[in-house]
Amino acid sequence: MRRVSIFGSTGSIGVNTVDLIARDRNAYEVVALTGGANIATLAEQARTLGAEIAVTAYPGKLGELRAALAGSGVEAAAGADALLEAADRPADWIMSAIVGAAGLPPGLRALRHGTTLALANKESLVCAGPLLLATARAHGARILPVDSEHSAVFQALVGEDIDAVERIVITASGGAFRDWPLERLAGATLQEASTHPNWDMGQRITIDSASMFNKGLELIETKEYFAVDPARIEAIVHPESLIHALVGFKDGALMAHVGPPDMRHAIGYALHWPERRSLPVQRLDLAAIGTMSFRAPCDARYPALRLAREVMETGGMAGAVFNGAKERALDHFIAGRCGFTEMAALVAEALAEVSGDSVIHADITLDNVRAVDQMARQAADAALPRVTKADGVQAAPA
Ligand code: NDP
Repeated sequence: MRRVSIFGSTGSIGVNTVDLIARDRNAYEVVALTGGANIATLAEQARTLGAEIAVTAYPGKLGELRAALAGSGVEAAAGADALLEAADRPADWIMSAIVGAAGLPPGLRALRHGTTLALANKESLVCAGPLLLATARAHGARILPVDSEHSAVFQALVGEDIDAVERIVITASGGAFRDWPLERLAGATLQEASTHPNWDMGQRITIDSASMFNKGLELIETKEYFAVDPARIEAIVHPESLIHALVGFKDGALMAHVGPPDMRHAIGYALHWPERRSLPVQRLDLAAIGTMSFRAPCDARYPALRLAREVMETGGMAGAVFNGAKERALDHFIAGRCGFTEMAALVAEALAEVSGDSVIHADITLDNVRAVDQMARQAADAALPRVTKADGVQAAPA
């Protein structure tokens, strides 16, 4: 039996991972499931899968978790140390699906044990790609991409020589506002930004899709994971979300990965890799689909892409600044403290503020990444009054 753990099991990726494992229950021994505030789902998953331990990130939720697990035989624990302890428990495969930079420490810890890490948590690669990859190399661990675009590239590269790759094209749905007139964007509401046209995902990544901060993270993730020159990485708007990525080779061939917008494909590929097994995803009817369309992303609509390109050029820990500032800007938008288009302005200000060579090009260690992440969040906070005042938006108090 394969021993598996799921970090972030109560989220959108986590629930889909639980779904696949529950369908083949006897093939897996479930070690740890972790969540945050959603204790009811965490406890129910742990009971259904017979997990060894369930961990909530929040110590204040431990009592509730213990009560929900009473009589089940599942251990309960809480807090950052408990997450690390869960990552220490021997496992063959771990899903890293915590949202945000909080996913980095447990992922790193799992890699130190040589565990295969299925990585949905793209923020880990964006903040600390070289550290993550070096840790995996040093401990003989493997990182398998779960982001649909990167899983698609990974699959297109099977049997290929990375030196034969000319370009990598990752697709973007264009998010909730792809067809909105530009002048309406500044007034976009939280509810409007939280509705994705094609994918059913967590709220934060859905808003990041509307702003394309998600695609910016993915450009950086592509550079880090596949070690390709940023100039060879492209993003294209593909509203149907059926092609997830394309790899262009030096003979001019483009290999596209085509599939339904269902994360269980990429999760299942990482779960069964290197085999392919039957997955409960829709089979595409190409005749019914008829056409697929593409368009270049508009710079004015998606300033996040330009910022991400700057970050790729700068290298070092610029990714940690980008992500930390982006997470904080998103907190401000969700709390009603800034407008939709002001998120990019906050990130731009933070990138300008946290830009010293000795900071950005210091050694990429967990402590340094944490410090830079904090600086970026503080810089975004400091920029908030300036940015919201400049745009004349009445911001809610922080
Ligand atoms: P969700 O917001 O749906 O779920 C996030 C998970 O992380 C939940 O289990 C949540 O717990 C937990 N969590 C939240 N904050 C913390 C914290 N501070 N410490 C520990 N755990 C925490 O996110 P998604 O599933 O949408 O995304 C997860 C990751 O996968 C992200 O990195 C995202 O970018 C990536 N991804 C997601 C895709 C998708 O389709 N959703 C596609 C590709 C990548 P709780 O809910 O109990 O509070």
